[in-house]
Amino acid sequence: MAKLVTLFSSSSGNSYYIGSSGQAVLIDAGRSCKQIEQAMMSNNLDMRAVRAIFITHEHSDHCQGLRVLASRYGIPVYASAGTMEELERAGRLDSRFNTDIIEAKVSLGDMLIERIDTPHDAAESCGYRVTTADGRKAVIATDMGVMLPAVRRAISECDVAVVESNHDVNMLLSGPYPYPLKRRILSDRGHLSNIACAEELPGFVRAGVKHLVLGHLSSENNTPDVAYQTALCSLTQAGLVLNSDFTLQVAPKETNGKGIIF
Ligand SMILES: [Zn+2]
Ligand SMILES: [Zn+2]
Repeated sequence: MAKLVTLFSSSSGNSYYIGSSGQAVLIDAGRSCKQIEQAMMSNNLDMRAVRAIFITHEHSDHCQGLRVLASRYGIPVYASAGTMEELERAGRLDSRFNTDIIEAKVSLGDMLIERIDTPHDAAESCGYRVTTADGRKAVIATDMGVMLPAVRRAISECDVAVVESNHDVNMLLSGPYPYPLKRRILSDRGHLSNIACAEELPGFVRAGVKHLVLGHLSSENNTPDVAYQTALCSLTQAGLVLNSDFTLQVAPKETNGKGIIF
């Protein structure tokens, strides 16, 4: 039995817990150490089970609490070479840290963590696929302008998938963001829209993904309901049945005390 818990998920902070039988990892540490500690506690999760923190990229919504969290608990930090360099440059690391570059994959205890490269406006961003100690697979795939075939393949092999559903295109276009920022978000190195995400979901379910989680929603250009309905509509039109073929949920911006058992 493995567990995935969204501690935080949105443009204002991201962190996920994935683990089983006393062995776990955190993907990203994008809120303060204190907030992450509190979110862990409210889910009855033990920081001592966390073997490493894997950082997807250097944007602050993914690494804000990293420095304090990693040093307080002596947790090793993994990232791509490009991300590690940017973390270093931004003072997010501490020389006492145990840091390691992840090339393709790394084994920690009985877990396997694989890197999945994502197209985003960061130095060398990636998502992660985690095979837990009991052989279950979960993936975090957010912060990507488009769905690349390799990312699609990686998601298809999982029991649980957190996939970005960042914005509603119409809300973004008619919203208050300045034009260059709108263009950045919509670009191939920006963020995945609700509709681009929704179109992918039936394929994931047919490939065996049981639990779908929509993640990294924009606070300005999306709502949980719009993201959920866009995804559900696509899945239903494809002939798939909610709570029979798949489960669907929106990752809460801040933890709601519920995780996914898979
Ligand atoms: Zn982000
Ligand atoms: Zn980002």
